[in-house]
Amino acid sequence: MFENLSERLSGVFDRLTKQGALSEEDVKTALREVRVALLEADVSLPVARDFVKRVQEAATGQAVTKSVTPGQQVVKIVHDALVDTLTGDADPGALKIDSPPAPILMVGLQGSGKTTTTAKLAKRLKDREGKRVLMASLDTNRPAAMEQLAILGTQIGVDTLPIVKGEDPVTIARRAKTQASLGGYDVYMLDTAGRLHIDQELIAQAAAVRDVANPRETLLVVDGLTGQDAVNVATEFDDKIGVTGVVLTRMDGDGRGGAALSMRAVTGKPIRFVGLGEKMDAIETFEPERIAGRILG
Ligand code: GDP
Repeated sequence: MFENLSERLSGVFDRLTKQGALSEEDVKTALREVRVALLEADVSLPVARDFVKRVQEAATGQAVTKSVTPGQQVVKIVHDALVDTLTGDADPGALKIDSPPAPILMVGLQGSGKTTTTAKLAKRLKDREGKRVLMASLDTNRPAAMEQLAILGTQIGVDTLPIVKGEDPVTIARRAKTQASLGGYDVYMLDTAGRLHIDQELIAQAAAVRDVANPRETLLVVDGLTGQDAVNVATEFDDKIGVTGVVLTRMDGDGRGGAALSMRAVTGKPIRFVGLGEKMDAIETFEPERIAGRILG
């Protein structure tokens, strides 16, 4: 079972002080605990290593060894280092949707929560910013996915592009663009096809759609519970398609949030939103403080 990281840290450091003054060696030993705890929180090994190094430098600089409450001090140093690593955009929730109709491309693997997230974001834009949004599903391999988006659209009061059987994704993207212009929409969202794994066809299709739509934002939706896999998926999508941000879903689950730390550190892409449930309002902008608190426990 995962032990609360803050308790673990203060426990280790406070225990050490009871035995007299802390040596640098003591700090090193305790920081090994930090590394293990980060790995258990799903942070990848290189990221955990780098992170521990940073914390060690900060801890040495701040003379933790002389502190009367070294545990609390180290927890604070770890917290600050987490926030620092996680912080990307000043305003991660601000989507670039000037010059209407602004295209937003949604990409990701099947089952990551892409369609749900498309609808959640559309609702958010409508409710919070009063935007007129058009959603289109490009998942021609899975008619059920196209239906799903239409159903969600009806539920949240957002229009979806009528489904025309036999059309390919690029044609649908073009039709969405025309419809969005003619219909006076502010934003149109393209929900691309997902697959279980990244393959050539998936990438080729997403790239073709990207070239036609010229999206203002390309958001990658990844399952926050998949840990390191989520980071690999993000790296590949970013290399091949280019993404402007990441949405981490299922952060309501019992994952420790370590994927967020690796994601930011490895891909360099900002996490813009987190999905917190199945309901249409269960989405929030990414808050480094909150995820740091979650990793610390
Ligand atoms: P897609 O194949 O990527 O389009 O995935 P879907 O949008 O169909 O989502 C797959 C399942 O995950 C659905 O049952 C969603 O309700 C669920 N889901 C999506 N986002 C979240 C989330 O943030 N938290 C939870 N708990 N479930 C989610």
